[in-house]
Amino acid sequence: MSVPQHRMDTFRAELGDIDWRDDAKLLAAKSRDYYWYSPILKAQLDGKEGQLIVVPKSEAEVITIAAAAARHRIPLTLRGGGTGNYGQCVPLEGGAILETTRLSRILEISEGRALCEAGTRLETLEKAAAETGQMLSMFPSTKRLATVGGFIAGGSGGIGSLRHGMLRDGANITYLRIVTVEQEPRIIELHGRETLKALHAYGTNGIITALDYALTPATDWLHTIALFPDYGAGLRFAENAQKSRLDAYLMTVVEGRFAPFYRRLTGYFPADRDAVFSMIAPDAMDDFRMQVAACGGEIALAKPLQEMEAANLPPAWECGWNHTTLQALKSEPEDWSYLQVAYPRPFDPALVMHQIERYGDEVLFHHEMARMDGEVQIFALPLVRWTSKERMYAIIGEMTELDGCTIFDPHAVTIEDGGMKEIDSTQIDFKKEADPFGLMNPGKTRGWTPEMARP
Ligand SMILES: Cc1cc2nc3c(=O)[nH]c(=O)nc-3n(C[C@H](O)[C@H](O)[C@H](O)COP(=O)(O)OP(=O)(O)OC[C@H]3O[C@@H](n4cnc5c(N)ncnc54)[C@H](O)[C@@H]3O)c2cc1C
Repeated sequence: MSVPQHRMDTFRAELGDIDWRDDAKLLAAKSRDYYWYSPILKAQLDGKEGQLIVVPKSEAEVITIAAAAARHRIPLTLRGGGTGNYGQCVPLEGGAILETTRLSRILEISEGRALCEAGTRLETLEKAAAETGQMLSMFPSTKRLATVGGFIAGGSGGIGSLRHGMLRDGANITYLRIVTVEQEPRIIELHGRETLKALHAYGTNGIITALDYALTPATDWLHTIALFPDYGAGLRFAENAQKSRLDAYLMTVVEGRFAPFYRRLTGYFPADRDAVFSMIAPDAMDDFRMQVAACGGEIALAKPLQEMEAANLPPAWECGWNHTTLQALKSEPEDWSYLQVAYPRPFDPALVMHQIERYGDEVLFHHEMARMDGEVQIFALPLVRWTSKERMYAIIGEMTELDGCTIFDPHAVTIEDGGMKEIDSTQIDFKKEADPFGLMNPGKTRGWTPEMARP
């Protein structure tokens, strides 16, 4: 489905000197994200494209675009760095792609908080925070490309979530500035818990132009690898470390079967051992050593970031979360896909050992230590040998029904079928205010139906 060309032309004519592009190659590239991790999404989304890319440099230009889109009923898909995994910025009904990457001013950095425009790359913000002795409370391993706005509209948590919880927890995000998509766009400011109205909404309910982001005092983390004789021992170590609040920023337990994919770590991560990758505070190293030894492990590597880079070793954040999937897909792209699993609380390592036995060579596991709602929460992003959609959903069914796990389905395009599980009526009510014609990222929320649109 796409918009008739004459309507696109009228829309474009109203953009004045706002930067726009419509060459075919760029349109194809800017209509994609990392949905290709899923063969199911690939079949569904390949070939879906926007018809025009607009690249505003200021909030005033965003307002001009929003007004013209509303007047001419042009679908509007927001795009930051385009690193989402679920086709979140693939335009399902054509129309315009609004790329935010030139909305990139850092407005203020104070103790514990950064205020910036939504298209600021996370790594740029990280560098600015470092100049004040601070660092980001959390980030995805895609921080070089990913934008702050894209992370909070499309992501959920990541490196740092072990200490600071998920994006929606606590005071991680306390302010959003939003432009509505109406003939006369308004600015809505959300504060505190009100920000949940637009968090993880896949760009369906308002254009975020600026936001605040939590910072934390900088630490020169040691990037470590600890090796264990079996996976259960690695899991036990990681769970205990988290319960005892060992001062860490990242901890991921990875089966030895992943070792062939971690080519830069040959010599540090042998395939006959299971590994725990962590970022540990220098002051906590004695405690770390003791806890590793208590679970029968040994430390194979512990270096600060600068030394890791000098030795051409990957930082720990490239060894966990969805970067692990990327390592495998780079080596064997046709063979693998993945799942995102949240384990029931309290965590029972025996359940994991049972799953490893049940799936044998079909599923390779790695587990991520995090906090959610203030409690220890363990996730897995297992690599699943790709055979068919039916088999993938059979595994999802088993993990859900037999094991009591929650699956954040990375093979679905809607917010509800992916992470949220149910329609968030607060977000839909906010969409009625911020996107009353239902133009934003159409097809990405089941909570919106065409009759809800303002005539
Ligand atoms: C290797 C790899 C590792 C990853 N690790 C993690 C991880 O640890 N944690 C995690 O949560 N995610 C992770 N992701 C997913 C993704 O990288 C992050 O969610 C990322 O932060 C998205 O940022 P982006 O700028 O690329 O967003 P995009 O992909 O451009 O957009 C994401 C969504 O946000 C919407 N959006 C973008 N900008 C705005 C705006 N200004 N206003 C409103 N809506 C907007 C888009 O329409 C889209 O629906 C990973 C992905 C890969 C490929």
